Amino acid sequence: MTKQQRYTAVISWFQQNMPNPETELHYTSPFQLLISVILAAQCTDKRVNLITPALFEAYPTPEALAVSNKDAVFEYVKSVSYPNNKANHLVKMAQMLMADFDGEVPSTVEDLMKLPGVGKKTANVIASIVFKIPALAVDTHVFRVSNRIGLTDNSKTPLETEKELNKYIPKQLWSTAHHWLILHGRYVCTARKPNCGECGLKAYCKYYFNSKSTVDLISAEDVPM
Ligand code: SF4
Repeated sequence: MTKQQRYTAVISWFQQNMPNPETELHYTSPFQLLISVILAAQCTDKRVNLITPALFEAYPTPEALAVSNKDAVFEYVKSVSYPNNKANHLVKMAQMLMADFDGEVPSTVEDLMKLPGVGKKTANVIASIVFKIPALAVDTHVFRVSNRIGLTDNSKTPLETEKELNKYIPKQLWSTAHHWLILHGRYVCTARKPNCGECGLKAYCKYYFNSKSTVDLISAEDVPM
């Protein structure tokens, strides 16, 4: 199977089986989504969704968050990973929104990346979900699943993965593909143990093909001569 054939088959499978994938973070405004995505770095969406209702109620606007302080915000975010850093980033992010962006979430990846706590991945997520800009954010799930399936060739960095996926996936599907690979990594092709038995992608998956070949080889060796 060529790489192009693999991509075509995988995209087609996702289109049929996961036609409208969406983020699992709860939010009602671009500002809330920005906060949630910052908090979700190295943390689960589930955990973030548990704490954001109280946080959003306490800080409903960039103005309110900008005049708060790290210690006050920490109390709301202390159960997520890296709470000190994230509390600090949230306050500074809101201050920059007020100072440089008229209190609005900026609409380009470049401007988003100027905000404290916002790297390429977070900026891509916001740009694609809020502003419908084609962008394929590579998080830990996208990175792992892409390597396992063979969409990338043992890519070493998220940026390498992003470039490779962008090359083969049509631009209009970048944002959707981001959600496909995240959800597949979260529920089927999990980090601890891929659930290949339940996976609809095994016919196109390099990892499955290689592990099956290894099992076949071991079984063949076990056959008494
Ligand atoms: S076949 Fe296994 S390794 Fe391949 S994508 Fe599915 S779960 Fe992941």
